[in-house]
Amino acid sequence: MPDALTPAARAAVLAMLACPACRGKLRIDDAKDELAIVCGGCGLRFPVVDGIPVLIAE
Ligand SMILES: [Zn+2]
Repeated sequence: MPDALTPAARAAVLAMLACPACRGKLRIDDAKDELAIVCGGCGLRFPVVDGIPVLIAE
């Protein structure tokens, strides 16, 4: 279970980041076993590796 980011850290990270594809707002998706970040604008999904979001638009 990924818990590298505290809720406060997650909020801070999300405040700094925007979707690289559409600049939309991002949200944490940790409903599944793997932590991920999902764009609320275009629906792109980005992995979080060792607590670091990997925001690469393909
Ligand atoms: Zn987007």
